[in-house]
Amino acid sequence: MITTSRLQTLLNQQGNETPVHAIVRALSSDGSLSMAELQGATSLAKSTVSTALSELRRSGIVVAAEQREKESGVPGRRPTAFTLNPEAGTCVGVHLELDGVRICIADAAHTIIDEQFIALGLDYAPEHAIQSTLTGAAALYRNNGLTLERLLGVGVSVSGPVTPQGFVHKSSILPAWSGTNVRELFANAFRKPVFADNESNCAATAELMWGAAKDHKDFLLFKIDLGVGGAVVIDGKVIVGAAGGAGEIGHMSIERNGRLCRCGNRGCLEIEASLLEPTRQLSEVHGRPLVIEDVLLLAEQGDSGANRMIEDCAEAAGRGLAAMAAMINPPLVILSGKAALAGERFLRPFQQAFERNALVRSRDVPTENATIIRIGDFTLNDSLLGAVGLVLRSIGSMKTQHMHAL
Ligand SMILES: [Zn+2]
Repeated sequence: MITTSRLQTLLNQQGNETPVHAIVRALSSDGSLSMAELQGATSLAKSTVSTALSELRRSGIVVAAEQREKESGVPGRRPTAFTLNPEAGTCVGVHLELDGVRICIADAAHTIIDEQFIALGLDYAPEHAIQSTLTGAAALYRNNGLTLERLLGVGVSVSGPVTPQGFVHKSSILPAWSGTNVRELFANAFRKPVFADNESNCAATAELMWGAAKDHKDFLLFKIDLGVGGAVVIDGKVIVGAAGGAGEIGHMSIERNGRLCRCGNRGCLEIEASLLEPTRQLSEVHGRPLVIEDVLLLAEQGDSGANRMIEDCAEAAGRGLAAMAAMINPPLVILSGKAALAGERFLRPFQQAFERNALVRSRDVPTENATIIRIGDFTLNDSLLGAVGLVLRSIGSMKTQHMHAL
């Protein structure tokens, strides 16, 4: 049976934005914070933070991090830090992959408890995926001695633009989901608030909350696999745009008369920079069907064709990045997706092409003003982690009407 958790009850009782909401939101988003950090994050006076924190600790929603340390036996946490009680609630993260759904469950203190992939085959129907997610999540809860009673919300990562309302754009690689409202479909099944965003934005959320961008507020993320995706983060906020299409770097046209892209335009960056073409062409050369991992392995073994194709993709990606950089001059660029597995083999030509085509080049500015390009901390599971992040970043903003409307 699904009932409202203690945390939800408290937030609902509090009405609209209060210091309690602000503190829950800060702890939910950052994991653990000291008293001083809470003041900074909420812009509230020390006495206000102190009063609200006492209320939250009394109700068992917030615990001192040292208490958790004693319980978990993990040393190294700051003794004065506070965190949401892991028992305050849980959330479910879902990543809609090409041939199945990947699900994980996490607690309010940012611990990933368990994860599972359910294969559904290509072109799976939304109803099938939702039913499988519900069954799969229930099994994960059961296997870990938990119940869905304290489920706070569900985050869904989709491989295509999603409007803020939850509608999936037709350019998604999952045609059966085109035009559906992914938030509504999952909310009908889970009876909880549902948040959804495209996979690159979810990846950026994960890097922002826990990974390579943890200490950054502005950055670009490039996700390069068989497709090319991107995310723009400004002032700690992942930019979604009017219809969820912000950061779709892959469909920026860089070759006027280039080949036709699946989106209907010509010469998109995705055509030039994704690992689809190397996989296709090397399959032909080697006379067997290859996947990205095979291409990366061939490159590592010194295959000149594989190395050349990876360099060409990286070069195109660098040119695309330079065009994006002209707009926001990012201090940080994170490379994600399977291209990141190629390491320096991809990163070096990517950086060189960026430097050659960018207006602001590293050599012309002081080191602290140069754009840093680095590989993300998660790369392969960042979209799933980010789906969890969507929920954690929203706790404290959930209001009564959202609880029931979705
Ligand atoms: Zn395109």
